[in-house]
Amino acid sequence: MTIRVFRNARIHTGDPVRPPAEALAADGEEIIAVGTEAEVRAAAGVGAELVDLDGAAVIPGLYDAHIHTANYARERSQVDLRHARSLDEALAAIAAHAARLAPGAWLFGGRWNSNQWERPVQPDRHALDSVCPDRPAALPSVDGHTVWANSLALRMVGVDRTTPDPVGGQIVRDEHGEPTGILRESASYPLRDLMTAGDLVDELRAAQADLLALGLTSVHDIDGEDCRAAYLRLHDAGELKLRVHKAIPAEHLEAAVEEGRRTGEGDDWFRTGPVKLFSDGALGSHTCHMIEGFAGDEGNHGIAVTPYDELVKLVRTAAGAGIAVATHAIGDRANRLVLDAYEEAGLPPGLRFRIEHAQHVRREDITRMARLGVVASMQPVHCTSDMDLVSALLAGQDLASYAWRTMLNAGVPLAFGSDAPVEHPNPFAALHAAVTRTRPDGTPPGGWQPEQRLGVGEALRAHTLGAAYAAGEEGRKGLLTPGRLADLVAVDTDPFASDLDAIARTKVLATVVGGEIRWQRST
Ligand SMILES: [Zn+2]
Repeated sequence: MTIRVFRNARIHTGDPVRPPAEALAADGEEIIAVGTEAEVRAAAGVGAELVDLDGAAVIPGLYDAHIHTANYARERSQVDLRHARSLDEALAAIAAHAARLAPGAWLFGGRWNSNQWERPVQPDRHALDSVCPDRPAALPSVDGHTVWANSLALRMVGVDRTTPDPVGGQIVRDEHGEPTGILRESASYPLRDLMTAGDLVDELRAAQADLLALGLTSVHDIDGEDCRAAYLRLHDAGELKLRVHKAIPAEHLEAAVEEGRRTGEGDDWFRTGPVKLFSDGALGSHTCHMIEGFAGDEGNHGIAVTPYDELVKLVRTAAGAGIAVATHAIGDRANRLVLDAYEEAGLPPGLRFRIEHAQHVRREDITRMARLGVVASMQPVHCTSDMDLVSALLAGQDLASYAWRTMLNAGVPLAFGSDAPVEHPNPFAALHAAVTRTRPDGTPPGGWQPEQRLGVGEALRAHTLGAAYAAGEEGRKGLLTPGRLADLVAVDTDPFASDLDAIARTKVLATVVGGEIRWQRST
């Protein structure tokens, strides 16, 4: 095994009682010493390899507790139209992207929002043909319910003027009965099947390099079984450089139980995670499940995506098989029902049960979360992205929203993540949001509901040790202390010694996973 000494650094170990260290030694994947350079070199022995970190600040490897890496991997190779302000801008982005693709390759991506275009026209295939005539193109809208296709794509899935609308879908037609290229709901499914046909192993290999470059060393992946299979292939090939805790989709729970899968099984690179359940939907679409409802949409209380009895049944099945549960809950009623279900089914000792997002919660339920030991898996950037929406839709309700401070004070374990690709996976954006409650541009001044801000150490802990705790890995990850994995990040901005706004602009210099430099900024 190679013994390496990482020296000439200011190392924040994550352990609040230790002062910053100068050096750290790893024997293979594990830390064997951390402290002054003299102490560490003595422990490492004369044959150790020295790695000079140029005086950089070092923090424990960042751990994203909620990320969709397969979706992220697929989207990174696709055109992104979220920020287009007009049809012309969208078409220009499409033309530029098409020019980079191999001949005949499909053009995917989109997330266009014609409601925010200067002139909110519905786009059609003729516009798409004008910039992308010779390859099929299929571009879902931002809410995912509509696909904008070009003429070639329609031909390839056999859609023409004679095709009837499928059940649960619509082929939008012009005044002559010809398809315009807009396919709604189930009419878009044949195209969607083609849209995920890329090789996920290749896409994940490329995506992990992006994530390492952002300082991430571990992830809880929330995507599907195809993603699990692709990671296992990378692992078998010795190409996995990012540690993965892999969730099980609800629809695959029974098969996983039959297989004997259990949360925590695996090795330090790949472990089985919790089953992912859904309690409700989302705020923007008024489908999160609320006790009181939404301003301007009286009588609507959102949607219980999984009926309560079914939720209890799923929790029992998982818990009985040694599988932890992570349930998506945004609204206060959704969060309460998850706690009810966890309590009714009984939480087996040793398994970490979680609520994903836990965005708008009643204070008495925060006390319950703490008592039950339920982890709050939260995404700080959701707060700063959605705060205007929260102010508009949930004003006047007695809610604790993105209540990191209240949660921590009550004793609820916090685990931070990004929910990428919904948000960008950069963990420093999350740390900035957590300590300021402002957007990257500093608005609103002083922060939104600033009493819920965290300190730098607390936010960093939630994005390292807290995420490790949610996976039952706190003995292996999250702190830079002997016996733990040598997963660390050298950064250009010391988060404890800089002003808070600078944290958002932090650049990673090197990412070390298991004692090896897996990514390094080129100089
Ligand atoms: Zn998610």
